[in-house]
Amino acid sequence: MLITTNAIILKRIPFSDTSIICRAFTEDYGKVTILAKGVLRPKNITGALLEPVNHIHIQYYNKSNRDIQILKDASFIQQYPIIRNSLNRIILGLAIVEIIDKATLDCNPYPVLYRLGWRVLEKLNDETQNFWLVFAFFLYQLSIRLGFMPNLKNCSKCNSEMSQGGIDEYTGELVCANCVTQNQIHLEENSFMVLKKITSSHLDDLQSLAIKENSILNPIRFLDLFTSFHIEGLKRVRSMDMVRKLINEENNNSN
Ligand SMILES: [Zn+2]
Repeated sequence: MLITTNAIILKRIPFSDTSIICRAFTEDYGKVTILAKGVLRPKNITGALLEPVNHIHIQYYNKSNRDIQILKDASFIQQYPIIRNSLNRIILGLAIVEIIDKATLDCNPYPVLYRLGWRVLEKLNDETQNFWLVFAFFLYQLSIRLGFMPNLKNCSKCNSEMSQGGIDEYTGELVCANCVTQNQIHLEENSFMVLKKITSSHLDDLQSLAIKENSILNPIRFLDLFTSFHIEGLKRVRSMDMVRKLINEENNNSN
């Protein structure tokens, strides 16, 4: 059956001298593995479309008893030149698609996550957007879409209202400063405030939030720990190592 849909490219693996296999997160069918024959031949323009982060129209021959489908055709929906020209933005973009890849199952449609994915990448491609805020928004929204909502209001142990605290290493939930046993991450009042702002904002309103760059880093550390704890597969996201390095560098620069 010939399928026509839209997709975000999650991963690309060279296959033979002239072909590639890519993992595409499609709008209608979820994650699909597709063989693109001959696209690395000179003059073939399709190869450039099948790069991680790209948002494309795609046509492929699908057989449900086969693990790998065959590409027929592809064309751009959106190109992301600003993401590709900024080291920070491409690191975050690659982390976003790898997270989607690890957090989803094959051939399982996730229309809400698909929409979140391309909408967030579109913002990442907008120079006027703070890329850290966009990334924090993505982690939080991904988490709630997959059923895990951090309780930012009450301590998960003693139920008292929190203004600062940390993450409990056994439950992965937020606990107040009195209940926190280890110090994997300390969320002081400002971090809580920033988290609350991010979690109550719409993607199109992020730009209007008055948040200082370095005060987003700690909330991202928390969202990273929270999502890695609760969402199966996220402990193995390799590109998050680079994101964490970037966070540490930014933090050192601002101190
Ligand atoms: Zn408590």
